[in-house]
This record gives sequence, C-alpha cells and structure tokens, in this order.
Amino acid sequence: DAKKKGPSVFSFYSESMNQASIELFEMGNNLRKAITDQQFQLYFQPKVRLLEKKIMGAEALLRWEIEKGKFISPSDFIPVAEKNGMIVSIGEWVLDTACKTCRALHRAGHTNVHIAVNVSALQLDQNNLSDNVASILEQNKISPESIEFEITETLVMSNPEKAIENLKQLKQMGFTIALDDFGTGYSSLAYLQKLPIDYVKIDISFIRQILVSLNAAVMVKTIIDMAHNLGLQVIAEGVEEEKQAKLLEKMGCDIVQGFLFGHPMPEQYFLGLFDRNPKEIS
Ligand code: C2E
Ligand code: MG
Ligand code: MG
Ligand code: MG
Repeated sequence: DAKKKGPSVFSFYSESMNQASIELFEMGNNLRKAITDQQFQLYFQPKVRLLEKKIMGAEALLRWEIEKGKFISPSDFIPVAEKNGMIVSIGEWVLDTACKTCRALHRAGHTNVHIAVNVSALQLDQNNLSDNVASILEQNKISPESIEFEITETLVMSNPEKAIENLKQLKQMGFTIALDDFGTGYSSLAYLQKLPIDYVKIDISFIRQILVSLNAAVMVKTIIDMAHNLGLQVIAEGVEEEKQAKLLEKMGCDIVQGFLFGHPMPEQYFLGLFDRNPKEIS
C-alpha cells in the first residue's frame, strides 16, 4: 500500500544522496592532503602555431593520482576544490610547477615557449592575487611573458569587478590572458570587450562539429574574423583530425591544440618533443 511504499522510496533516495555527499566530503578531505602527499602531477599539452607549424607553448593540465595508476579527472575534483577553497593553494602549486617547467625549457634554449595555466573563479577573487603570483614567478626567476592564464567567462561572473581588476593588473604585469571554452557561456560576446584578453580559445564542441555541420563551420569562421578584428588571436582546442586542422588553417586560425598534435603528457615527454623534432623549436 501507499503508506508502505512512500517512506521506502524516500529513504532510497535520501540514502543515495547521502552516499554522494559522503563521497564529495571524502574527496574534499583527500584533496587537502594531495599536495603534501605529492599526488598531483602537471601534464603539458603542446600548442602549435599554424603559420610556422611550430610548438609555441603548452597548456598545463592538472592530474590527481590517488593511488598508483588511478587518476581522478580534473572535471570531477576541480569543482570540489573550488567549493572547499583548496583551489587557491592548488592553483599556487600549479603556477609554481609550471614556472619550473618554463625554467627547464629556458635552460634547454627554448626561450620563446610559454606555458598556459588554468585559473578558477576563487583565485581571481583574491585581494593579494598579483602579489602571490609575482612572488612565485620571482622565486623561479621567470618573467610574466612566459606565462599565460586561461579564464572562463563563468568564473568572471561571480564577482566581475574584482575579477576584471585582477586581470587588468596581471596583464599590466606582462602576462597574457586567454578566454577559454569560448562560445559555451551565456554572454561570450559581451565579455570579449569587457575583459583584457589576448587570445580566444574556441571550445572543443565547435571543433568537433566543424567538418559535419555547416552552422558550426560558419560560427568558427565568424569567431575567428571577429577576434582578429578586435586585435585578438585565436586558439582552437580539441583538434583531433588532420582535416579539422587544414580547415582551421584555411579559416585563418592562429594556434591549434588537440590530440592530433599531442595528448597532455608529463614534463619529461614535453621537453623531449623538442629534442626529437629540432625543426619545431621556436
Ligand atoms: P580546459 O581548460 O578546457 O582543458 C581542455 C581539456 O580538453 C583537457 O581536459 C584536455 O585534456 C582535453 N583535450 C585536449 N585536447 C583534446 C582533444 O583533442 N580531444 C578531446 N576529447 N579532449 C581534448 P582535462 O585535462 O581533463 O581538463 C578538464 C578541465 O579541468 C580543463 O578544461 C580545466 O577547466 C580544468 N583544469 C585542468 N587543470 C586545471 C588546473 O590546473 N586548474 C584549474 N583551475 N582547472 C584545471
Ligand atoms: Mg584551459
Ligand atoms: Mg577549454
Ligand atoms: Mg573547460
């Protein structure tokens, strides 16, 4: 009867929700130890300038190895780190580690290669962001020109004034800034003129469709032309096929990134790319 069914259905749902929140809680606690337990690694995915067919940099992507060979995806743990505030110290670890890779690149003679680092909303909300960033770069003897920050419009929306103030300061210091996942938000166009950016990164969802949907192709071409008219350069992310790269080149896209040119890889492999292919050295 209904009386018997009701509560059991309810308790089924509440149990499974508890299970989910317990898992999130545990993940949050484990994240607190991840830095000291050395469970983070920074991987690097090459970015290629189409005009010269040269590696011009890499995006740094965080990897969390909770036990040997077992990784948790950043799409799963970054939101948790954003909620519990851990993202601020994780972000500092990421920047410090990216600087060390930059240093290794410079030592090997690749002085023009730069590293792009993803930044979360909470980081852009800090009062002392530029001081923290400056001291990490100083400790590593790296100049801001070697580092790019990737931001998304959604992160700017939480506290736009503070975020824009911080971004302007970072840009003034000499960092470059890229607007990530472009085209997926609610007000992409509005943010193009509000934010002090240098690059637009067209979201992977458009690139995936570019060969099969005329609409997607038209949108990509329009984004490229508009960005260029605004004095910005364009990066396409998620390029997996030669045909996509060829079409993007024809459309005037500046930089490409994706499995076609390399998966995200540990530092030693990224450094090795330059040795294996001397022509690609920038
Ligand atoms: P994102 O910044 O948009 O990074 C691009 C994602 O696309 C990466 O996923 C990358 O591995 C993946 N990708 C690159 N090329 C291809 C391709 O050709 N095909 C496909 N299917 N995927 C490709 P990943 O590494 O899992 O990172 C997911 C997201 O997590 C990132 O999206 C970024 O928002 C966030 N994230 C990663 N590392 C950090 C970090 O250090 N700090 C912060 N705040 N967020 C990070
Ligand atoms: Mg990114
Ligand atoms: Mg992206
Ligand atoms: Mg993303």
